[in-house]
Amino acid sequence: MKKYLIETWGCQMNEHDSEKLAGMLASMGYLECDEKEDADLIVYNTCCVRENAELKVYGNLGHLKALKKERPDMIIAVCGCMMQQAHIVEHIKNKHPFVDLIFGTHNLHNFPVLLANCKEENKMLVEVWDEEGDIVEGIPVIRKYGLKSFVNIMYGCNNFCTYCIVPFARGRERSRKPEDILDEIKGLIKNGTKEITLLGQNVNSYGKTLDNSVSFAELLYMINEVKGLERIRFMTSHPKDISDELIKAIKECNKVCEHIHLPVQSGSNRILKAMNRKYTKEQYLKLIDKIKKEIPNISITTDIIVGFPGETDEDFNDTLDMVKKVEYDGAFTFIYSVRKGTPAAKLEEQVPEDIKHDRFNRLLDTLHPIVEEKNKEFKNEILEVLVEGESKNNENILMGRTRTNKVVNFEGSKALTGSLVNIKISKPKKFSLYGIIVE
Ligand code: SAM
Ligand code: SF4
Repeated sequence: MKKYLIETWGCQMNEHDSEKLAGMLASMGYLECDEKEDADLIVYNTCCVRENAELKVYGNLGHLKALKKERPDMIIAVCGCMMQQAHIVEHIKNKHPFVDLIFGTHNLHNFPVLLANCKEENKMLVEVWDEEGDIVEGIPVIRKYGLKSFVNIMYGCNNFCTYCIVPFARGRERSRKPEDILDEIKGLIKNGTKEITLLGQNVNSYGKTLDNSVSFAELLYMINEVKGLERIRFMTSHPKDISDELIKAIKECNKVCEHIHLPVQSGSNRILKAMNRKYTKEQYLKLIDKIKKEIPNISITTDIIVGFPGETDEDFNDTLDMVKKVEYDGAFTFIYSVRKGTPAAKLEEQVPEDIKHDRFNRLLDTLHPIVEEKNKEFKNEILEVLVEGESKNNENILMGRTRTNKVVNFEGSKALTGSLVNIKISKPKKFSLYGIIVE
């Protein structure tokens, strides 16, 4: 039997695409393996959101050169967001000519055909579509985590934040039909899934491209009715599109978890405008107030970029102020990375690297004590935890998450994996909670 290895960079969307690649390979009779040396096929599923991710892919490709020389029959395929950019495909053609197959995000479903064609050819096969086609349903999927599954509800993005390459790599926004989403979720539950995360670049604008328009809130109500499902999560929400109807749905749907990931990106109105985010600092704070008032125990996380072109110390201080005012439960923090083809890449006032790094460290110095303080609030609280299995660092300790997406560690039998348990928090830590099982 032929063996494959897939390496994935980037977001949950990419991870889920890799689950589809694995599903297609399994239906072609391939088996997964752990070592490159054992693989007949290596697939790199790439991310282009920041330069770092791209450099890692190039570095990894460089390492494959010797292996390919030793085993010329091994097939190397590269796909994902990076491949949607012509200059990157050119770079791979020139620097890594031993790659056998290049394809993009829009023709992922054609992978079996592309692989078969590539085996017939003696040269690199490149097939990247510039435009997205119709949504293709029914692609086989191998889920990496049975208990928790990702479900795409939409693809692409129409927002064109000026720093972001995603609308160019993933195309325009398009939504899956509710019945297709519900069928997928019901199938997942039959196979043991307890928690789903609904994925989209901006889930709040779900449904706009459907013939019979359905809002994201309406979709949540429908999914909440699915029997056997315990928890519903979703990401990502764009602050400009959060409706009262959605806040009400989060509040009323008992399976929708009390956690919202609401990327702010910056706390400066000047920078938010330059980023094309379409909200002000004041509007964002007002929204946070409204959400906290309606759902008092909600946890709020965010994405923040430091060093966007033209960002001054004053702008950066506005971001720190935002972090203090919102009191985030967590944040993904990023140093601005120039992305060729985006409007921000052409701006002249790029912030020097040392200043970006300094601001990044200051951001973490502000954020981490807030996250730690928020965790302390859970001391002696009893929280519902979905047990995910043994902790990575300690086999005798179990790990799970609260509805608010906090990691909790506790002692218990591995047999509890997949069940919901109540944990009394005895020791809040910096980035996690520790507790004991109670009845
Ligand atoms: N659609 C989601 C949203 O609007 O929040 C997230 C998409 S993006 C893959 C995830 C995060 O990467 C963004 O929220 C942003 O903070 C960050 N990001 C995107 N482009 C970036 C860039 N050029 N430099 C640094 N960070 C970037
Ligand atoms: Fe990128 Fe903005 Fe779309 Fe998110 S909403 S994917 S940050 S363009």
